[in-house]
Amino acid sequence: MNSALTIAKFGGTSVANYQAMSACASIIAQQNDTRVVVVSASAGVTNHLVSLCHDELNAEQIDNIIAQISTIQYAIEKHLPENTTRTDTLKGLIDELTLLAKQPSLRTNDMLKEQVLSMGERMSSLLFADVLNVHGVEAEVFDVKQVMRTDSNFGAASPDLAQIAALSTTHLAPRIQAKVQVTQGFVGADEQGRTTTLGRGGSDFTAALLAEALGAQLCQIWTDVIGVYTTDPRITDKARPLPELSFEEAAEMATFGAKVLHPATMEPALRQDIKVFVGSSKEPEKGGTIIVRDCEVEPPYRAITRRKEQVMVTVKTPKMMYAQGFLAKVFEIIAKHELSVDLVTTSEISVSFTLDNPPNSVAERLNRVTIEELQDICDVTVERGFDLITVVGNHMQTSVGVSSKILSAVTDYQLRMICFGANPHNMSFLVQEQHSADIVKQLHSVLFE
Ligand code: ADP
Ligand code: ASP
Ligand code: MG
Repeated sequence: MNSALTIAKFGGTSVANYQAMSACASIIAQQNDTRVVVVSASAGVTNHLVSLCHDELNAEQIDNIIAQISTIQYAIEKHLPENTTRTDTLKGLIDELTLLAKQPSLRTNDMLKEQVLSMGERMSSLLFADVLNVHGVEAEVFDVKQVMRTDSNFGAASPDLAQIAALSTTHLAPRIQAKVQVTQGFVGADEQGRTTTLGRGGSDFTAALLAEALGAQLCQIWTDVIGVYTTDPRITDKARPLPELSFEEAAEMATFGAKVLHPATMEPALRQDIKVFVGSSKEPEKGGTIIVRDCEVEPPYRAITRRKEQVMVTVKTPKMMYAQGFLAKVFEIIAKHELSVDLVTTSEISVSFTLDNPPNSVAERLNRVTIEELQDICDVTVERGFDLITVVGNHMQTSVGVSSKILSAVTDYQLRMICFGANPHNMSFLVQEQHSADIVKQLHSVLFE
């Protein structure tokens, strides 16, 4: 392990404008050990790019979106000292985007979509490197595609860890002493060099993967909140920041909807025992959450998470009692499409499970195909409009009174698919989406206030 190396990642709001970028640069200027900086696209830009890829737009609407993206980026660039190379590069990127956005096949071509989606990080990294230079930190842009090797699963690509380690050693490690390397989160490249992306919010994952590949000791996630909270502070102002979390608790929280960390962020940290810090780039003096392998205290309740847009699928066959292997067939279809199922409940003749269904995602399309294939072998009922609520904690399945305390806090609401006991760190259930915020508040008051 390179004990003196830190990787820092700045999210969308942290690089939203010149002022926000300057705050991030001040943080880096005070840290000699941070040699690699991963940036997200400036806030709002990726949403615009998603719209270009998915929405049916006329030429005027396309121009309008590109104009909005340009406005965000040029508002940053106008504060920077004159540099024709950078100005030309930025213009080149906007031109490239314009060309891609006007391809008639964009909405059906996953390869082109990836190129469009990667543009936000390409622009923000170009600008942020120069903001660092203004702050006296010698920095340069590093093209993450040189090292972030993934499979070709466009829109939700999986990293090739061995290749990322080898490529980072060859291409990235030799550069970090001379200059801070500013690189793109979220973006990767497959074996043929085609652009890929790691899924929405993937920049956190990029930072953790690079920390692993370079043997860093610390991965900092700088965002718009002063750490990981007991629940999403946007749901209740009673949520409070947690000074410490274990890798496992953080992994559960990320998987079950705490947007502050991409679901896969903790995987590299767990494998290589890399500490993860989460803090606010606007208020670094307020400290943050430090995520480590073992915490001193392991409370039964640590946090509550919510994941929206869940689909509940129930498959039923009257023959199930006799039909050995039915479950295996169902899960074979799910596995074939690489969908991950979080909650499962079973009865004699039916099985229910949840699918994540964020709009405009790869999952949305795969869910549709999967459900169609399931209909060939059994009766399928699909119910929508659910949110998934999870209480994250420790030793939950072996402590007395944990499930009853949680359930008695929400007796006024209909709960579906209660799942408890498969793992010491969580209890989850589905609720109707219109009640989920109230349920989180209610649970929070009983468990934490
Ligand atoms: P970034 O652009 O920096 O990656 P994100 O919007 O992806 O930022 O993540 C930060 C947001 O995550 C916060 O503003 C907050 O609303 C949300 N969030 C959800 N759950 C939590 C939690 N448990 N603790 C802190 N933030 C949370
Ligand atoms: N820019 C990407 C997104 O908005 C990745 C990230 O911000 O982490 O999803
Ligand atoms: Mg994020």
